Amino acid sequence: MRIEVDQEKCTGCGSCMEICPKGYRIWKKNSEGKAEIKDLTLCHVCTLCASKCRADAIKIMRDANEQKENEIKQENL
Ligand code: SF4
Ligand code: SF4
Repeated sequence: MRIEVDQEKCTGCGSCMEICPKGYRIWKKNSEGKAEIKDLTLCHVCTLCASKCRADAIKIMRDANEQKENEIKQENL
């Protein structure tokens, strides 16, 4: 899983890190005051950060294997 922040779109409002349950343990502001991922270890993919971003700057991507696993799990339900 990856989270990408489009630095062109990010306004540095800070909403993503404020809404994130793990806050500044995952997020940081870079030297331009824009949002950057520090460490995704604690991320549980709640997607709150992306839904809160009014600039539509956050993309959450699952990698291909993880997507496949989810599909298999759903088929087995
Ligand atoms: S909510 Fe969006 S615009 Fe605001 S700091 Fe986070 S990524 Fe940037
Ligand atoms: S998906 Fe949830 S836990 Fe992960 S960075 Fe975004 S708000 Fe934080």
